[in-house]
Amino acid sequence: MCEACGAPDMQGTCEICGELWDDCICPECPICGEQGKPDCYEGHGLIKTDKQIKNKERKDKELAEEEEYYRIEGEKIMATVAEKRE
Ligand SMILES: [Zn+2]
Ligand SMILES: [Zn+2]
Repeated sequence: MCEACGAPDMQGTCEICGELWDDCICPECPICGEQGKPDCYEGHGLIKTDKQIKNKERKDKELAEEEEYYRIEGEKIMATVAEKRE
């Protein structure tokens, strides 16, 4: 979520664990009480667990596969449109 305007960020996912905010598995920071904030891992002494790291890797992979799927589907649609024009 954008702190300035309150709008959800582009993907609406946690940068640390890769889950949607509703499903975020990150612990609350003992200093500022925020969840899934990169600053907390750099400045507030929070340490990412294996679970968070693995989760993020898995989510990144899923996202890449999804993007690839839509890219291919998009190309198929473009090809169909091109065929119809002829
Ligand atoms: Zn998280
Ligand atoms: Zn913090």
